[in-house]
Amino acid sequence: MKSTYCDYELRCLENDHINDEKETTTYCTQCDSVLRVFYDEVSDDIQYPIKDIVEDPLKTHPSALKKLDRLSKQYEADLYAKLEFEHPTGCFKDRGSYIEVQKALELKADAICLASTGNMAASVAAYACYFKIPCFVFVPEKTTDAKIAQATIYDANIIRIKGDFSTCEALCRKFAKSGNYYLAGDYVFREEGQKSFSYELIEQGGDDFDYIFIPVGCGTNFGAIAKGFDELKKSGRIDRIPQLIAIQPEQSSPVVEGIFKKKKIIKNQVNTMAQSVAASDPVDFYKVLLGIEETDGQAYTVTEDEILQSLKEMAIEEGHFTEPACALPLAAFKNNSNTFKGKKCLFVLTGSGLKDTKVVAKHSLSSPVLSPKLEKVINYINSGYIDMQKNSWGKSRDTFMANLKMDEDHERLYNNYVSNIQKKGKTLSNNEIEVLQSLVFNEELDLEYPAEVLDYKLTMRKHGLVQAAVKLNIKNEEVITKAKGVGPIDAILTAIKSETDNLFPLEVSNHEVEILSPDTDSLVVVTLTLTHGEQEWVSKGASPDTIEAAVQAFVKGLAIAMKSEVA
Ligand SMILES: *Cc1c(COP(=O)(O)O)cnc(C)c1O
Ligand SMILES: [Zn+2]
Repeated sequence: MKSTYCDYELRCLENDHINDEKETTTYCTQCDSVLRVFYDEVSDDIQYPIKDIVEDPLKTHPSALKKLDRLSKQYEADLYAKLEFEHPTGCFKDRGSYIEVQKALELKADAICLASTGNMAASVAAYACYFKIPCFVFVPEKTTDAKIAQATIYDANIIRIKGDFSTCEALCRKFAKSGNYYLAGDYVFREEGQKSFSYELIEQGGDDFDYIFIPVGCGTNFGAIAKGFDELKKSGRIDRIPQLIAIQPEQSSPVVEGIFKKKKIIKNQVNTMAQSVAASDPVDFYKVLLGIEETDGQAYTVTEDEILQSLKEMAIEEGHFTEPACALPLAAFKNNSNTFKGKKCLFVLTGSGLKDTKVVAKHSLSSPVLSPKLEKVINYINSGYIDMQKNSWGKSRDTFMANLKMDEDHERLYNNYVSNIQKKGKTLSNNEIEVLQSLVFNEELDLEYPAEVLDYKLTMRKHGLVQAAVKLNIKNEEVITKAKGVGPIDAILTAIKSETDNLFPLEVSNHEVEILSPDTDSLVVVTLTLTHGEQEWVSKGASPDTIEAAVQAFVKGLAIAMKSEVA
């Protein structure tokens, strides 16, 4: 894309105050409202506010403008998507970071800093890294490593702060002032980068859209796209601007609410699975309002369920796996399909689904782990689990488990587990239900149990030793056996083994204890590796009680070992 430079002014949106970029690149020094770049002349080429601009070194091609054939046919409209997840870091924000980082260099900043938990951090870090300027990313303590992995690989300095996002943002602003640091984020120069969306669309021949659907968080992207069109129109390159549509999740919709009240609204808290648009204080609200007024646009909200359904539909029908935020356009379109029938519509798909795979994991049942036997695989396929998995998308899991067709024997086994667990006063979480199911799917049904543990008692002794007394049923005879061990699992297994080794000697070569959800009464899975000479068996037990899970695993392991020995 050809670009030019000409002189410009930074003016605030509310009062037209003129600001100096050497003093501020964020808010107006007089009235604290947001700033915008105004160029002295119009131009046919895109204008960037940087004198010696370097062409985007990371971008290899314009993001694709793609017809959505199947959805168009189904909904009787001319539907397209602009695949903004094709940018180097998987998100449109690269358009803005490209300019922000070069502005930081032009202003001779010693470093860039920003507060972010997601896409913004990754994007600014990538460009800062390439242009070799240090980058400080302030993240709340609870941010997962996965989210900051992208920033980390680009050598950003990750600063973890006790507190939430707004704590980080406030601190980062102070940090920026403590040195010669450029504060990056949803500020004036980002918009100058992100407006290239509109120029690119026109170059791709997309100059006759009726509507453009844009997912909105802070509103910076919406404002930037509107500004791009406005400049294109003023320069005479286009004669009409598409109607711009702002969409937010119902549970995080200060912008949409504000549009109807014509004033900015700040929420205390917002909560949506579309994390990238969860902004409680939409800094660029007035740019969105202006864009909607100038293009005769619209604002819509969509529910969490509609987001899930559209997310899935876009993947299944058109092959695009996007972030939940990108499901907002299709969801809003579907809710108002009468308005848009026969119209040419563009959905802005802002970010890649690979950015947030947890959303998928959270809203679908995971697959149980099967042992590597053909028979297990076929049983599993016939069990109905897979259909249930597909139908479960976005629905409460508990309602589905009941429909699972296990064969009778497996069902009995599963119910045994559940009733034992419930006896201990515990209800199972979804995650625990899945693990149990997986365990049961793997269980061998025709096992004969040579030994059964009827009761046990553990007593603490000196030096960390534990004494175990176990009542066993071996071949229909009750025996009591005792042993000491280092720790309760060691003691009880040693006691059991002292009797069962007469039937079949086994060594416990490894044991693993997995606590599924680390709360007080969570389910524990114990995995034992048992050996006899060169042979090895793995066996699992599950219970809220670690000892009981270990005992289950051992007794079952003994049965499996003895069965395989006979065969
Ligand atoms: C940041 C972001 C948005 C929202 O953009 P705003 O400029 O904050 O309105 C939407 N989608 C994705 C994937 C994003 O990363
Ligand atoms: Zn001002």
